[in-house]
Amino acid sequence: MTDRRDEIAGNLAEVEERIAAACAAAGRPREEVTLIVVTKTYPAQDVRILSELGVRHVAENRDQEAAPKAAECSDLPLSWHFVGQLQTNKVRSVVGYADVVQSVDRSRLVKALSKEAVRAGRELGCLIQVALDAGESGRGERGGVAPGGIEELADLVARSEGLRIDGLMTVAPLTGEYAGHEQAAFERLMDLSTHLRTTHPAATMVSAGMSADLEQAVAAGATHVRVGTAVLGVRPRLG
Ligand SMILES: *Cc1c(COP(=O)(O)O)cnc(C)c1O
Repeated sequence: MTDRRDEIAGNLAEVEERIAAACAAAGRPREEVTLIVVTKTYPAQDVRILSELGVRHVAENRDQEAAPKAAECSDLPLSWHFVGQLQTNKVRSVVGYADVVQSVDRSRLVKALSKEAVRAGRELGCLIQVALDAGESGRGERGGVAPGGIEELADLVARSEGLRIDGLMTVAPLTGEYAGHEQAAFERLMDLSTHLRTTHPAATMVSAGMSADLEQAVAAGATHVRVGTAVLGVRPRLG
C-alpha cells in the first residue's frame, strides 16, 4: 500500500502543478478551481489514500460501484459527486451518499431526485449536464441536455424541494462541431453559465475538463475539473 500511496501522491502533485500552471496562465487565482478525483473502477482503499492526501471531492459514475464504496468511506470528510448517466430506479440509492449530482439532464430525473432528497431529509446539489453535440433541443449520446433545454431544467430544479441548482457540467464532445476543439466547447459552456446566472445567480459551478483537457477547461473558466486517469492511472476497463 505504501507503493500505491507514493504513486497516487506523485500523480496528485503533478495534477496539482498542471492546475496551478493553467490558473497562472489564465490569470486566475488557484483557489478558483476545485479538483474532483474520479475514482470509478478504483477501490475504496484508493479513496482512503486520496482523503489522507487532502483530496476533498471524489466522483463516481455507476451507482452499483459507488454505493458500496461510499459506504466503506463514510467516515471520511469527502464530498461525493455523481457524474454518470442516472436511471430513475437508482436515484434512491444515489441520494443516500451523493452531495452533488452533475448529470441532471431530464425533468423525470429532477422529479425523482427531489422526491428522494425530501424522503432522505437531504439537500442535493444539481448540475445540468449540457450536451454540446446534441441539436438545439435534443439529447447527447452520453447523456446531457442540449443548450436550449438548460433554462427549463434549471428552473425546475430551483423550484423542487430538496434540490439546489449549482451550475453546469459538460464532457468535451467527440462528435459534432466541437469535436477536437475542447477549449471552444468549454468557452461555450462558460457562455451558457453566464446566461444561466442572470436568472440563477447562485449557480456558479462550471464542471469541465478531465485528465486530457483540464488546461483548456481552466483557461475557459471552469470552477471544477474532474480528473481520473492522471491521478489514479489508466483504468483497467472502460468506466
Ligand atoms: C471518467 C470520467 C472523468 C475522468 O476522466 P479521465 O480522463 O480519467 O480523467 C470525468 N468526467 C466524467 C463524466 C467521467 O465519466
